[in-house]
Amino acid sequence: MSAIQKATAANVHLKTELPGPKARAMIARDAGVSSPSYPRDYPFVMSHGRGTEVWDVDGNRFLDFAAGIAVCSTGHAHPEVVRAVQQAASEFLHISSDYWHERMTALAERLAALAPMREPVMSFLCQSGTESVEAAIKLARYVTKRPRFIGFLGGFHGRTMGSLSFTSSKYTQQSGFAPTMPGVMHVPYPNVYRPLFAGADQGEAVLAYIRMLFERNLPPQEVAAILVEPIQGEGGYLVPPAGFLAGLRSICDEHGILLIFDEVQCGVGRTGRMFAAEHDSVAPDIMTLAKGLGSGLPIGAMVAKRRIMEQWKRGAHGNTYGGNPLACAAANATLDLVNGGMAANAAAVGTHFTGRLRELAREFPCIGDVRGRGLMIGIELIETGPDRVPARDLCQKVIERAFHNGLLLLSCGLSTVRFMPPLNVNAAQVDEAVGLLRTSLSEALSLVGK
Ligand code: PLP
Repeated sequence: MSAIQKATAANVHLKTELPGPKARAMIARDAGVSSPSYPRDYPFVMSHGRGTEVWDVDGNRFLDFAAGIAVCSTGHAHPEVVRAVQQAASEFLHISSDYWHERMTALAERLAALAPMREPVMSFLCQSGTESVEAAIKLARYVTKRPRFIGFLGGFHGRTMGSLSFTSSKYTQQSGFAPTMPGVMHVPYPNVYRPLFAGADQGEAVLAYIRMLFERNLPPQEVAAILVEPIQGEGGYLVPPAGFLAGLRSICDEHGILLIFDEVQCGVGRTGRMFAAEHDSVAPDIMTLAKGLGSGLPIGAMVAKRRIMEQWKRGAHGNTYGGNPLACAAANATLDLVNGGMAANAAAVGTHFTGRLRELAREFPCIGDVRGRGLMIGIELIETGPDRVPARDLCQKVIERAFHNGLLLLSCGLSTVRFMPPLNVNAAQVDEAVGLLRTSLSEALSLVGK
């Protein structure tokens, strides 16, 4: 038995080889009929889930530290969310946003009470992150009557044509789809681990870069909005330096530009606060939400200061499914759970988790950086040597070996393994995951010959 086979055999929760026979059959069935564009990394075929645990169709149990790409905020099938959805389903499945219903208004009220704007807000509900970003872009253009935008290299905002024109975390997202929406200028996102600007505060340097653009190339009076992730997600789980978001706020205020925070991934308790904006006490004009908002039910929200959103005329923007009663029921229950303790749990367990990963980094020099907030944590993997060369192959192998060891993970950036478990994960589950990660790192290093 090889070291790798022994390690896999040591996990009592794994009953078959991976993928097992039922998973293999399902994947074969799917291959001819589903789009090959889905970026699937490993062959996990879901059967069911509870909290942070998921089972595949062959009865193998995994710890889910990907949570459906940071979606299952309250864990899989949280009983209060399930009950709320079942109750809503027993009443009606759909009516459309052309009408009113209590759960939809209640959700807008909750968002108004929680939003970090420090003034009255209104919400536009939709089904996904990309649609919430489309709505934000459209609102910004509509009210400012300006054609241009600033986005960030490494940003991810979705894949429909408007949001895609900002998305730039991976080359493949843009490749083959030009032309996207014109008028979007990308600037670097501050990266303190890989400083682009020598000897400077990376946040200050990016702010100076934007000011330089305004003097030379980009008329600020033509810029409708700056769209930014308060923590860059798909681009590598980058936490910007203190003062950066406040600096963007000042630039926007100076030039009448709207500040849009994309909190689709980092919002709803993920960073240990309800919204990532709260860590820096910066109020955006518009905020986009999705993912964790519905605990798995598809929902997005574009939340804007009331004095901005009320400028939209009737019919200026709309949709068929926005405010779907099942999705609103899930979101209302989710916000109550996150506000009622899960965000605090994310902060506490996140601190424990980060500490465990820092210990691991002392054992494995290939872990170049441990960063994040709450339960939005990344470890950046590097080649040995002084240059911090991204260890892309190693990163992919770690993700694959983690699957084979019973741990679901995803990557981001060039070579970062990211951890985004449900917000109610506990310290024992984190410790179990760190053990599986240690095994996976050792195996991946031997596979890449290190
Ligand atoms: N914005 C951010 C910050 C995201 O991370 C994502 C998805 O990963 C999106 C927008 C797009 O969301 P969706 O995939 O629901 O369209």
